[in-house]
Amino acid sequence: MVVAESETMKPHVAVLPSPGMGHVIPLLELAKCLVIHHDIHVSFLNITTEASAAQKQLLHSPTLPQGLHVIDLPPADISTLVNEETLVLTRLCINVEESLKPLKSVLMELGKLQALVIDLFCTQAFEICNDLSIPTYTFFTPSTAFLAFSLYLPTLDREVECEFVDLPAPVQVPGCTPVRTEDLLDQVRNRKIDECKWFLLHVSRLPMAAGIFLNSWEDLEPVSHKAVTAHPFYQNIPTPPVHQIGPLIKQDEAPETESDAECLAWLDKQPSKSVLFVALGSGGTLTGAQLTELAWGLEMSRQKFILVARKPTDASASATFFNVGGDVSDPKAYLPEGFLERTKGVGLVVPSWAPQILVLRHPSTGGFLSHCGWNSTLESITHGIPMVAWPLYAEQRMNATMLVEEVGVAVKPAVEGGKGVVVREEIERVVRMVMEGEEGNVMRRRAGELKVSAVKALNFGGSSYESLSRVTKEWKAEHIYI
Ligand code: UDP
Repeated sequence: MVVAESETMKPHVAVLPSPGMGHVIPLLELAKCLVIHHDIHVSFLNITTEASAAQKQLLHSPTLPQGLHVIDLPPADISTLVNEETLVLTRLCINVEESLKPLKSVLMELGKLQALVIDLFCTQAFEICNDLSIPTYTFFTPSTAFLAFSLYLPTLDREVECEFVDLPAPVQVPGCTPVRTEDLLDQVRNRKIDECKWFLLHVSRLPMAAGIFLNSWEDLEPVSHKAVTAHPFYQNIPTPPVHQIGPLIKQDEAPETESDAECLAWLDKQPSKSVLFVALGSGGTLTGAQLTELAWGLEMSRQKFILVARKPTDASASATFFNVGGDVSDPKAYLPEGFLERTKGVGLVVPSWAPQILVLRHPSTGGFLSHCGWNSTLESITHGIPMVAWPLYAEQRMNATMLVEEVGVAVKPAVEGGKGVVVREEIERVVRMVMEGEEGNVMRRRAGELKVSAVKALNFGGSSYESLSRVTKEWKAEHIYI
C-alpha cells in the first residue's frame, strides 16, 4: 500500500466492518465521510472470507476517495468450523473471529491510530486495542430502538428463566416502546442455540466501547434517543457516549454494471412516482410458494414495478447473505408461467441485485416493497418513498412495526395464518394502497418531512454533523503531527 505523504500528516483511523452488505455499506459511508468532510486518513479493514460478489465490487470501486485505503485481511479457512446447517449469524461470527486472528499485527503495521471503529460483531477487537492503547468505538448499524433493546438484553437474560418468546407480555425495554414477542429477532427466539449465545456475547460487550455511533437521527427516533442518552437504566450500565450521526446512506452517482444501466433506462421511460421497487436486501430470499404469490399480487395490482427476483429457497430467508450479486439464474425458471410475457412493459425483473439507491432516487419511483433492513429503511425515508414492510430476518420485524406504528411511512401486509404466506389478494391490496391510495399519500408526505429533516441533520451545523465533528475534533486534538 502506498500512502501519499500528505495523508501521513493527518489523523489516522481504522474502520472494521463485519461481512455482509448491510454492515459494509454503512461503515464504508462513515469512512468516506471521515475522509471527505473531516480530513481524516482511513484504513478500511475488509474481512475477505466469504465476501460476496457485490461486496468485492463495492470495495474495489475506482470511485473511492483518496485517503481511504481498503486493506484486505488474509482469508481465514472456516471450512472445518461451519457446515450447511450453520445459521447465518453463527457463520458470520465464526468468520469474523477467525479473520481477526492477525488483527493485532495488522494494526501495529498501520502505525499510530487515533481510533478503531468496529461493527457490532467484531468485539474481539476491544481486548486487542486495549493492549495497543487504541480507543475503540462501535458503529451500531441498526436502529436506536434496537440499540436500546440490545443494551437491555443481558439484563433480561439474567432475570428471565423462560424463552423470551414465551413471556406473557411485550418486553419492557427501559424508556422505549415495548417490543412484542412476535417481533423478537430470530437470534433470541431460542436461547439454547449458538446464534443466541453469539448475539448475547457481542451485545454484552457494547459498554466496552469508547463511544457508540448510530446510523439514525433524533427526529426519526426521539423516544429511543432520549432513553439511551438519559434514562437511568442506560446510565447505570454505564452506556458509553452515544452519537447519532446518520442517516449515512450509499451515495452512488452512476450505474456500475450494464444491468444497472438497463434498469435506469427503463425507469426513465415511466411516469413520475409510478413504479414500485421490490427488493429484499442482500440476504432476502423467499420460498417458492411466496414468490409465486408475490408475482401474482404485483400483476393483479396493475402497478408498474421493478422486481429483484432471486432464486427462491425453502431453506432460509437470508439465503444469499454471503453470496449476493453472484447469482446468474434465469428468473423465468422460478416465476409463474407466462408472468414475464404478461407483465412486459409494466414490470422489469432483475435476477439478483439492483442499483437500489439510484432506483429510489429516480423520480419515477413511487413506492418500495422492502424487507426493512435498516439501510433500506433509511434509503427509502431519505428519498421520501413510502413502503410496504415485508420483514424477513434479523431485527427487521421490529423495524417494520416501528415504521408502521410510530413513524407512519409503511403498511404491513397480513400473513394468512394457515398458509404461512402473504396471499396475492393481500399483496394487491397493500401495493395499491401505497401506490394510489390516500393512505399512500399520507405516508409519502410523512416520508417527505423526514427527508427534509435528514438533510438538516447532516448539513453543517445539523445534529448528526455536529455529533461526528465533536468526536473527530477529539481525535484531532490528540493527534501529534509529525
Ligand atoms: N442493495 C442494493 N441492491 C439490491 C439489494 C440491496 O443496492 O438489490 C443495498 C441496499 O441499498 C442497502 C444494502 O444493500 O444499502 C442492504 O442493507 P439492509 O440493511 O437494507 O439489509 P441487509 O442486506 O443487511 O439485510
